[in-house]
Amino acid sequence: MTDQLKKYLLEDRSVRVQAVRLTDTWKAAQANHDYPPAITHLLGELVAASTLLAANIKFDGSLVLQIQGDGPIALLVVECRSDLSLRATVKIREGHVVPAEGDMQSLLNPGGNGRFIVVLDPQAKVPGQQAYQGIVPLEGDTVAEALQHYMKASEQLDTRLWLAADAEHAAGMLIQRLPYHGGSDSAALSEQAASETWDRTSALAATLKRDELLATDIDTLIHRLFWEETLVAFEPAPVRWHCPCTRERVANMLRSLGEAEVKDILAERGQVDVSCDFCGKPYAFDAVDCAALFTGNPPASDQTPPTVH
Ligand SMILES: [Zn+2]
Repeated sequence: MTDQLKKYLLEDRSVRVQAVRLTDTWKAAQANHDYPPAITHLLGELVAASTLLAANIKFDGSLVLQIQGDGPIALLVVECRSDLSLRATVKIREGHVVPAEGDMQSLLNPGGNGRFIVVLDPQAKVPGQQAYQGIVPLEGDTVAEALQHYMKASEQLDTRLWLAADAEHAAGMLIQRLPYHGGSDSAALSEQAASETWDRTSALAATLKRDELLATDIDTLIHRLFWEETLVAFEPAPVRWHCPCTRERVANMLRSLGEAEVKDILAERGQVDVSCDFCGKPYAFDAVDCAALFTGNPPASDQTPPTVH
């Protein structure tokens, strides 16, 4: 049984409902890391959120959710591609220890400089095109609240999110009001009726508790919340862990550090060991490999470093 994301529409097609529950994907994300529970909660919720948002992007590419902090946690980052393959990692601020318990504000925003960042990065860009990046101050007590603040600030569609994670599961539910396409056709949905559907759906969804979201499979959860409604269900979409790191990308990252820096590391340690921040895969560059990095070989076409800053 693979991890899945499920999408539904209310019968009048004015509200979208999505739910995701991750087990294997979330375990893979934690496999090479020893996260304290506070990070497990925050990162798992960000992972679940990334799939809910990536499921609606209209291009081939990736959606990156980042929380940059000024506390013990410097960065939480999740990259989810349009095929719902994802990777995630955390950077702890040097010299800091993350307490076992702690909320988003105390771990990421004690100085008030925390930021919530959303990047939309189409794979095939026209020349000169850049990834879209939206940045807002880190507001709210939870990842869901921070994301809702972002959606509101960037004038997105009315959206509400519920997120939860522990070491076993990362889960989320999203409801979103879809744009109203008015018209004189009497069969067209009236704005009034659409508002009523939104209010009703919000009220039903608002009864969802964190523990219930974590413990319940999607079908049971959706039935329990919306059994009085008629939902149109879409084909479930599989979600999986995938890290696209390659030796070539690591080589490019080392080139960007510069020859002097790489030679220093080589002199100190005999070889340069780099492990991927996301999946932990080790990459070793010995003296010969390092020399080859700077001998005028044309750099590989893919300049993306293995980390997302
Ligand atoms: Zn990797």
